Amino acid sequence: MNYHRFDCIIVGAGGAGMMAALESSKTVGTAVVSKLYPTRSHTGAAQGGIAAALANLENDSWENHAYDTIKGGDFLVDQTAAEILCKEAVECIYEMEHMGLPFDRTADGRISQRRFGGHTKPNPKYDPNAAPGTEAAKPRLPVMRACHAADRTGHMILQTLYQQCIKQGVTFFDEFHMLDLIMVEGECRGIVAIEIATGELHTFHAKSVLLATGGFGRMFKVSSNAYALTGDGPAIAYRHGLPLEDMEFYQFHPTGIYRLGILLSEACRGDGGVMFNGKGERFMEKYAPNLKDLASRDVCSRSIYQEVRAGRGVDGKDYVYLDIRAETINKYKTSPTGAEVDSKWVESRLPDIIDFARTYLGVDPIKEPMPIQPTAHYAMGGVPTDIRGRALRNAQGDIVPGLFSAGESACVSVHGANRLGTNSLVDLVVYGRRAGREMAKYALEREFQHLPSEPEKATKDMISAILSRPRTEPWVKIRDEMQQVMMDDCGVYRTEAGLTNARDTIARLKERYKNVGVQDKGSVFNTGLLEVIELGCLLDLSEATVASALARKESRGGHSREDFPDRNDNEFFKHSFVSLNPDGVPVLSYKDVDVIMIEKDGQMTTKYPLEVRKY
Ligand SMILES: Cc1cc2nc3c(=O)[nH]c(=O)nc-3n(C[C@H](O)[C@H](O)[C@H](O)COP(=O)(O)OP(=O)(O)OC[C@H]3O[C@@H](n4cnc5c(N)ncnc54)[C@H](O)[C@@H]3O)c2cc1C
Repeated sequence: MNYHRFDCIIVGAGGAGMMAALESSKTVGTAVVSKLYPTRSHTGAAQGGIAAALANLENDSWENHAYDTIKGGDFLVDQTAAEILCKEAVECIYEMEHMGLPFDRTADGRISQRRFGGHTKPNPKYDPNAAPGTEAAKPRLPVMRACHAADRTGHMILQTLYQQCIKQGVTFFDEFHMLDLIMVEGECRGIVAIEIATGELHTFHAKSVLLATGGFGRMFKVSSNAYALTGDGPAIAYRHGLPLEDMEFYQFHPTGIYRLGILLSEACRGDGGVMFNGKGERFMEKYAPNLKDLASRDVCSRSIYQEVRAGRGVDGKDYVYLDIRAETINKYKTSPTGAEVDSKWVESRLPDIIDFARTYLGVDPIKEPMPIQPTAHYAMGGVPTDIRGRALRNAQGDIVPGLFSAGESACVSVHGANRLGTNSLVDLVVYGRRAGREMAKYALEREFQHLPSEPEKATKDMISAILSRPRTEPWVKIRDEMQQVMMDDCGVYRTEAGLTNARDTIARLKERYKNVGVQDKGSVFNTGLLEVIELGCLLDLSEATVASALARKESRGGHSREDFPDRNDNEFFKHSFVSLNPDGVPVLSYKDVDVIMIEKDGQMTTKYPLEVRKY
């Protein structure tokens, strides 16, 4: 048996995992287990920026940022968690700057910032009686809050954190794929992982285990997510009977490359890019008269669908244009400062995106607009945690001793029903750091607990079962059908009938999945075997997502029910928790949203009153 023992085991080497590792390894032994080589984690693909109210270019405050985050999340955000996010964002950015992260700079050498959807400041000239459409009629204006390193922000964060982890002596198990959690008497005591190069199983004995396995966008047909984003952490927790929170809230990013889903960052619009329908109209003026193309992502994605449904897609097809040409930015006066820009400026701000469009679309965005459609992008839901990163066992808030989660696999919930752009990277570092701190504290207070006699037995049996089956039906067929039904029936718009179809289809696919075999029966780099196992995770998470979406009979943020088009605060101002009952059927329970109360005029009232969300 390959046995390893560390105080803290961190599963995932993205921004969340490495930030946690940096923190816990200050005091206790820490190892990071990652199925990818660390710097290949999806954090490295993040383009546009990381939010923090540094106020380097204009007046800003963490309170503004918290308000935007709560409103952006359609008020399903836990407010204490959001305030922590926005306050600690500032110190985390400076911490990473001191680690050597090469942020872009302002002329006087401070960290540069750009605009992003839904990030605003109050308009000092606001007049509620002003004529509609005038500057004074806008209660809030876009603000420059996203720190960036060109359009390679995530890449720089990942490289910087990895260097620091190596410097600090964190142990890495690269290309080790976690297959199970070791749960004993309701506590987490370690993990089982397969060494991809050899096929050997390894047992990792730990006091604290962090799930930082990232998102699960591969559930959908068109996605910005890398192939490895299959939600292994949340899926394995769910199989152990643990709940997943707010799974119905999945974000579609409005600007994915048509058909391919590859992301064209929101920085395109932050820097002045504009979307047009097939008739050449700037359609966002209709849907979000104030912020227009810089409205939140759910609003922009729905607007694109509306245009396409009304036959105003380009050439009557299911896509629209994103235009970042300097002449367009100048015509609509959408550059960040309102000043004229030229093509060189656009190239310097968005070099990778321009490269993607040239490579994958054969379109030169300096000269022509880019065909785009919404792409599955970000999971607001995941493993429920408290503000110290501790995984929750139920909607009452009891914890699972020894288990933690952070980053996209977790739901703390700072994103509520819809995440604002640039708020994920900041979530990784703020809550990754908090989880790391808590894991170390927990480990220092405890002895190692005993493990069961054969912790890897269930995993071994699962692998032998897959390897012993003949390869009849190819697993990719099941994957394709899952991705199609999730895209069609559990995508930007949902209905009872569509979701019921998705539920039944996923159930049938899960039955067929039980008979899937693989061609390669070997142990060395058996990627076919691992892909089958990853598909199993996606099927479980699809089931959890659809069950949560069926139960939420309202529209809020990223969850849009055509049969229940309005937000219903009376019945659904609450987080959903989905978990498997003893018969393996998903069941729902609900948890109150954390609301901050303040005293105003001698009365207690909510600090962030519920309002209709308009941009
Ligand atoms: C194209 C793109 C652009 C984006 N741009 C931005 C942006 O500009 N700003 C912003 O705020 N957000 C952005 N996001 C979102 C943000 O990048 C992600 O939400 C975030 O990086 C997730 O980080 P993470 O640490 O949670 O996981 P990831 O970085 O996805 O890392 C997951 C880790 O888990 C490991 N892992 C997974 N499963 C297993 C397993 N079974 N065993 C062992 N290891 C496992 C992987 O090896 C990997 O190391 C973007 C996302 C995409 C896809």
